[in-house]
Amino acid sequence: MEAIKNLPVAIIGAGPVGLAAAAQLVRRGLKPLILESGPSAGTSLRAWGHVRVFSPWRYVVEAAAAELLRSTGWNAPDDDALPTGTEIVEQYLEPLARVPEIAKNILFDAKVSAITRQGLDKVASQERDAAPFQMRYTDKTGTERSVIVRAVLDASGTWSRPSPMGVDGLPVIGEKSASDKIAYGIPDVTGRDKADYAGRCVLVVGSGHSAINAVLSLLDLQATAPATKVLWALRRNRIERLLGGGLNDQLPARGDLGLAAKAAIENGRVRLLAPFSAQSIQTAGDGLHVEALVDGQPEQIAVDRIIVATGLRPDLDMLREIRVDLDPAVEAPRKLAPMIDPNLHSCGTVPPHGVVELTQPEPGFFIVGGKSYGRAPTFLMATGYEQVRSVVAELAGDHKAAREVHLVLPETGVCNVSSSPSAAPSAGGCCGGPAPAKVDACCVPDVEVKEAGKSGCGCGSTAPTQSETAAAE
Ligand SMILES: Cc1cc2nc3c(=O)[nH]c(=O)nc-3n(C[C@H](O)[C@H](O)[C@H](O)COP(=O)(O)OP(=O)(O)OC[C@H]3O[C@@H](n4cnc5c(N)ncnc54)[C@H](O)[C@@H]3O)c2cc1C
Repeated sequence: MEAIKNLPVAIIGAGPVGLAAAAQLVRRGLKPLILESGPSAGTSLRAWGHVRVFSPWRYVVEAAAAELLRSTGWNAPDDDALPTGTEIVEQYLEPLARVPEIAKNILFDAKVSAITRQGLDKVASQERDAAPFQMRYTDKTGTERSVIVRAVLDASGTWSRPSPMGVDGLPVIGEKSASDKIAYGIPDVTGRDKADYAGRCVLVVGSGHSAINAVLSLLDLQATAPATKVLWALRRNRIERLLGGGLNDQLPARGDLGLAAKAAIENGRVRLLAPFSAQSIQTAGDGLHVEALVDGQPEQIAVDRIIVATGLRPDLDMLREIRVDLDPAVEAPRKLAPMIDPNLHSCGTVPPHGVVELTQPEPGFFIVGGKSYGRAPTFLMATGYEQVRSVVAELAGDHKAAREVHLVLPETGVCNVSSSPSAAPSAGGCCGGPAPAKVDACCVPDVEVKEAGKSGCGCGSTAPTQSETAAAE
């Protein structure tokens, strides 16, 4: 037993939450072992590095991490400024990963494929709790390796598992074979990926923060490439409230662009398709034909590119040999799920939580960070930092600290710079306070269906679908 206690605590992923967990372990005198699939810290944030987040630096930098960084002479960024993903990586995560106590315990290009108990499969119960964990990973040469650890914090996020386009949760027929013309998440349409989008007709699918970002960036691109056309497909028609009250009020940093988006919809520069449900996709020359139901009517929509921003999912494959208990709908730890269910909560109504909610039937194994929210879109770094503070306190034997709540979410300050961190939670905030009335997921107001604007943008012109033609005949 004593020997197991001397083993390191594995952390899967060197994102903001994984590295915060490492800093907490160091603070408590425990040894972390961080396995990161990418070549450097913050690999997922790099993928959306051009996006400016809605939380100012003060909610991005974790307390134990800041302590370690300060000991190296680090210059803390301005508390009130809103960083981009790349700035978070370059000004915070990479310097943190270089702090000696962390640097000597990180393996990059180490992709974890499985976790088990040493010598025990999932069914074996005898002396299970006394066995250390065995982690299987692949190094950069593709060689399979394994390592023995005392506990595991899975902070691998959900970025690598985007949801597909189908409203039923499945890829639309033809979606996989059209993958060279489909991007998932938030491509950098005005920078790195500009050549793929400039002057083209682009269909954006989704209504969350990522979809809004993609649409607004395409509008930016229209300024320099006026032939760029934007179609915005929403599963439900929520756009009027989204733009009227939601986007401008709750993303003040992008308020001007929100107004531009509204104007663009009104004057036909963005064509809304809502309620939208894609049925199939076919490659047609250099572009795609999407067969869809739009407001109940079949349409065939011609586009050049599709951006799918319909959410993210946890990778559960690597957890196959350990005992985990997840909510069947949200795919989050069962006790946490009702607190974050996007059917009931915005991120502002998620209370701080820790080891009690994150404990699994497999002692010593915890899902933390963005992955702990499963399919719910409301995760905040600040909440993840509180999770790992609590879990690490538990691993260190400080059960009292593990059950205390140290995080106070401010009024709206996680989303914007206007509030004080000590302010008590109140209604009206997004992602930092209780949800405003009738708000569902983070920053996405729950609205009544409204007739979609149908002025065409040139592309996306609709032809009757085969079934429609048949019906007419
Ligand atoms: C565009 C966008 C904007 C956001 N804005 C905000 C904001 O303003 N405020 C806020 O609080 N939150 C925001 N979030 C939400 C959330 O805080 C971030 O997604 C955050 O990066 C989650 O941190 P994480 O450490 O849990 O996971 P990630 O940052 O996703 O890190 C996970 C790490 O694990 C690695 N990994 C994955 N699989 C494996 C494996 N099998 N083996 C080894 N390593 C693996 C990845 O490479 C990655 O480095 C935003 C999210 C997005 C996408």
